Amino acid sequence: MELAWAQEHDQYRERLRAILARELPSNWMQDYAHGRGTQGEIAFSRTFCPKLAAEGLLIPHWPKEYGGQDGDAWEHFILSEEMWTWGDPRGPQYMNVNWIGPTLMKFGSPAQKEEHLTRIANGSVIWCQGFSEPQAGTDLAALRTRATRTNHGYVINGSKIWTSYANGSDWCFLLTRTSDERRAISVFLVPMDTPGIEVFAIPGLVEEGHIHEVFFKDVEVPFSALVGEEGMGWEVVTHALSLERVGIPRYHLGRLAMDAAIGKLKREDRYGDPLMRAAAGRIIAKLEAARMLTYLVVDQRAKQQPANAMTNIARVSNAEAVTDTLNFLMEYAPGCLTSRDDPYLTLFYRYAITNTIASGAYELQLNMIAQRALNLPRERRQ
Ligand SMILES: Cc1cc2nc3c(=O)[nH]c(=O)nc-3n(C[C@H](O)[C@H](O)[C@H](O)COP(=O)(O)OP(=O)(O)OC[C@H]3O[C@@H](n4cnc5c(N)ncnc54)[C@H](O)[C@@H]3O)c2cc1C
Repeated sequence: MELAWAQEHDQYRERLRAILARELPSNWMQDYAHGRGTQGEIAFSRTFCPKLAAEGLLIPHWPKEYGGQDGDAWEHFILSEEMWTWGDPRGPQYMNVNWIGPTLMKFGSPAQKEEHLTRIANGSVIWCQGFSEPQAGTDLAALRTRATRTNHGYVINGSKIWTSYANGSDWCFLLTRTSDERRAISVFLVPMDTPGIEVFAIPGLVEEGHIHEVFFKDVEVPFSALVGEEGMGWEVVTHALSLERVGIPRYHLGRLAMDAAIGKLKREDRYGDPLMRAAAGRIIAKLEAARMLTYLVVDQRAKQQPANAMTNIARVSNAEAVTDTLNFLMEYAPGCLTSRDDPYLTLFYRYAITNTIASGAYELQLNMIAQRALNLPRERRQ
């Protein structure tokens, strides 16, 4: 098979690279890419994204009627790869442009679209995603945060966990229960400065300040904060999650980390061991296979085909290649992961820890492959 980029895609990538080289501070990889969720990173997102918007590179994949350019799925993906080469300097706004905005296009009221889409499109607003709870991660329908209807709107009580960027967000795309029935879930758009909201950072390797607990105590929101109708949140959230078919291009970070580690081992004259070299070769092949499987999913999207098990297969191959990369680095170059000498290695190390859990756990992807590709039964036959 011969894979080559179309000329316009090559040009698009070159243009992006030139803009990133121009706009990112020279210390970007050393400082900001290591400080996800820090106030510095969030402040940078607020200046960098408006510049991307002005270049037509923040929402090129959005429809023209909402300020986008109807760009194809390949451009969208090239954008993602190039952003991740730098640890994604869009910071939290990758969520806005990839799924919060597009979900509002489908389910938002005219007033919600008017208020939020323009601000997302010009890069001037930060959102967080309030889905997961201590007892509701994979099993999201078990969530307990409750929105109770009053004469004036709703009162929200409960808590969320693992909320990325909650410390610097203007708005929360919040999932709550609106009745005891398991699937009676509703989505609210909640300003983060509403009285009754408290945010606490969860210390962690991903970087202090990135993930949080968020508590809601008698938080009042108007009826206009509800997205769609009460109880149809499951449909809204399923749509939002389906928009992130391929997720972070993890093979790309893995390849950057492998190249950095091999370069370092060579410079230190430690790359002679044939077993080490064979292991490195196998891992690079796996990372490249994950890249190809991911490209197959992008190709399906570019052809407007519905999502299928290939999405899960690509995600599993990414997760496994990244785990193997991490194991290789632990075995042959352990010090380089934590030394901060090489920004790609540090970035990779911090992100690898989220590899099999964030945005859809590894085991769940296997379940989906079992059902969608292998047609295995959901329950064990008696
Ligand atoms: C860095 C990071 C950032 C995050 N940011 C956000 C955010 O901004 N907003 C947000 O809402 N959430 C966020 N999350 C949470 C993330 O979505 C959840 O961690 C994820 O959905 C898994 O839920 P859980 O942690 O409760 O694990 P669980 O659902 O408790 O899973 C634990 C383990 O059990 C396995 N398991 C669970 N159910 C099954 C099953 N049916 N079959 C087989 N195995 C199963 C899982 O695969 C996993 O290995 C973030 C997580 C991370 C790591």
